[in-house]
Amino acid sequence: MGTKGSSMSPPPYDYDPFELLRQSNFSDDEYERCFRFFDSQKRGFWTREEFRRFLSSLFSNKQRPYFILNDRIEEYFRDTDFNQDDQIDYDEFIQAWKTTIKCAVRPISALVIVDVQNDFISGSLALHSCPANHQGEEVVPVINRVIRDVNFDVVAYTYDWHPLNHISFYENRHLRSAAPESPIAVDSAHVLDTVLFVGPPNLTSTIEQVLWPAHCIQKTPGADLHPDLIRVDNAIHVYKGTNPEIDSYSAFWDNMKLSKTSLDDQLRERSVTDVYVVGLATDVCVAATAMHAVENNYRTVLIEDACRGVNEHEIEVKRAELNECGSIFVDSDVVPGMVAGVDRRPEVARGMFVENLKAIGHYHPR
Ligand SMILES: [Zn+2]
Repeated sequence: MGTKGSSMSPPPYDYDPFELLRQSNFSDDEYERCFRFFDSQKRGFWTREEFRRFLSSLFSNKQRPYFILNDRIEEYFRDTDFNQDDQIDYDEFIQAWKTTIKCAVRPISALVIVDVQNDFISGSLALHSCPANHQGEEVVPVINRVIRDVNFDVVAYTYDWHPLNHISFYENRHLRSAAPESPIAVDSAHVLDTVLFVGPPNLTSTIEQVLWPAHCIQKTPGADLHPDLIRVDNAIHVYKGTNPEIDSYSAFWDNMKLSKTSLDDQLRERSVTDVYVVGLATDVCVAATAMHAVENNYRTVLIEDACRGVNEHEIEVKRAELNECGSIFVDSDVVPGMVAGVDRRPEVARGMFVENLKAIGHYHPR
């Protein structure tokens, strides 16, 4: 396979074995050829150096390798070397890497558009009135461009969708009893304060709740999606925060993880591997949704310029937490290459690799 004529430096390999795997629809023969390609000494196994070249080629952007820490390379090598003979044979390669390679080269990608609703943009909980002074409507053209330009397999819209008597509403703070250990008494609480309520019987003893102005009340204009946001046909629609007693920032589970929405099941039905999260608000529902996507073993990416948040400090805290868990923040410009499987990031690969090791009984945490 030749390269297009260009003035840029040549790629490190004559051809891309992963592109051939894609073209072969991941045939067994092509996996064998891929193994042989990196077996440069033709000995039927990979040395550390050959394994390193395999990782550099897999985790690359248009054949330009991403930097991977030596410790991580060594960790992958030991994870893959099941029989600890300091070599990677074909069987070890296939068992450890087949699913990881396929996900990296041909991901099934979902765009999850979180809570791009009028109340968060121009209504009772407009982000421009929150500490970070972000303009929520700025996400709309970015999300629309991503919808138009990127070939997502699945698009999901989530809605904060509260009944009138919802626990999160500041206006409802007197409807429930504060727990004796609540840091703030209900009477002296302000909007955005955190109160500890007595939990509903048989569910939980206490519930920690930030008091937000009443927002996104079911079937009101404030709960509608922003009028300029593109509506995709055959999309998934997820309604959260419908239980009056428990808030739900994430589109996967409520804040107490007592009940889940249909989002995970619907993504699994469509064989989704990668979740791209956008919308409002970065440090609240977007971050919570991204964190649960990671916990559900999706390779998870937050498109930063398609999100706006409540509080700058909290955004940084959530970014650190999500990075720690193997999720990344990117700019929308790079998303087409990632979804196409030509920009293959090492950070998002580790979780699914480990899950596969667990599934085949070869996970040995050190
Ligand atoms: Zn809400």
